[in-house]
Amino acid sequence: MTTPTPPTAAGTTAGGTSTGTPVTLVVLGGTNRLRRADRELLVLAGTLGATHVVVPDAPDDALLDELAAHAVDAVHTLEGGPGDRLTTPVVALAEAAARETGAHVLLLASTPEAKDVAARLGVRLGAGVVTDVVALDADLVATKSVLAGSWTTRCRATSAVLVATVRPNSVELPAGAAAGGTGTATAGAQRPRVRAHAVEDTVPAARVVARAELPASGRPALDEARVVVAGGRGTGGDFGPLEELADALGGAIGASRAAVDAGWIGPEAQVGQTGRTVSPQLYVSCGISGAVQQRAGMQSAGTIVAVNKDEQAPVLEIADLGIVGDLRTVLPQAVEHLRALRG
Ligand SMILES: Cc1cc2nc3c(=O)[nH]c(=O)nc-3n(C[C@H](O)[C@H](O)[C@H](O)COP(=O)(O)OP(=O)(O)OC[C@H]3O[C@@H](n4cnc5c(N)ncnc54)[C@H](O)[C@@H]3O)c2cc1C
Repeated sequence: MTTPTPPTAAGTTAGGTSTGTPVTLVVLGGTNRLRRADRELLVLAGTLGATHVVVPDAPDDALLDELAAHAVDAVHTLEGGPGDRLTTPVVALAEAAARETGAHVLLLASTPEAKDVAARLGVRLGAGVVTDVVALDADLVATKSVLAGSWTTRCRATSAVLVATVRPNSVELPAGAAAGGTGTATAGAQRPRVRAHAVEDTVPAARVVARAELPASGRPALDEARVVVAGGRGTGGDFGPLEELADALGGAIGASRAAVDAGWIGPEAQVGQTGRTVSPQLYVSCGISGAVQQRAGMQSAGTIVAVNKDEQAPVLEIADLGIVGDLRTVLPQAVEHLRALRG
């Protein structure tokens, strides 16, 4: 096996900046729609130097306009698109873009798919990989939570290149940006140039044989929701009261593994060590005891509210507000109160 070589300094190649400004690459998924988590990466990248974006599908005009408003200089895309392979085309494209631009930082969202990409990029570029970052300073010191969320650490990669996955809801968006705008006066900004890479991806990776759209719930995606209402075994399988509260708060539904294992809700809702890691502003834990594996996925939430009928439940040790009571009584009261507040 050969030792990977990091990209060389920025500003000297066709895809780099002419000014020598360090390039940050934001690696997006295969969609032409920016999610909130993507916008957070773009805002963060803007604090670190020039921003280039990696997106496997050819970007449409709407995406280019939105990227222009975020002052993105260039979009790196794959000639012919990503095809039917999982992950590896994006890795090959991001590697090519990093080498061409001499990028010193690659940013991705902290999703399971993106972490797969990040790990592969770390090997190919000889880069340090830091996952679950909640803050990144201009001198590239990253803040992250470790050991099931019980410690917050600060670290810096000793390699020339840093690959960082950033937890959604870690970066404050300018007013208006969360809804799809940028929150900045950037109308008419120049569109980024598009650089199509002809990259041969020879890795024998898994292939996509079929795709099915998940039925739309009308709620935000769990990964990037500002509010998560999560239920456990204490729901007894009835998530109705939780859905009403989630809808009143504009939130997503999460679950403990016990609720998933019972078949009450799909595995995509599981929060925790072997599920999703979420960092919402508000996490409402309902009928969940608060095992360490559950905490691993939610402890970095801004505010934790726990509803549990057992005053000894461990979740109450980490809750900012604990409500001891039956969730079937407490949640409808909360919904009623919220509705009354809104008139
Ligand atoms: C390797 C490994 C990985 C794991 N990964 C995960 C993971 O990713 N996510 C995860 O969640 N777990 C995970 N687990 C499981 C974890 O250890 C716990 O078993 C699980 O989180 C318990 O789920 P629970 O809190 O819903 O159920 P329980 O522990 O049974 O707690 C139910 C709670 O509901 C309360 N309650 C009951 N009725 C009511 C009511 N009417 N109103 C209000 N409160 C009520 C009870 O007082 C209790 O506190 C993992 C375990 C292992 C070994």
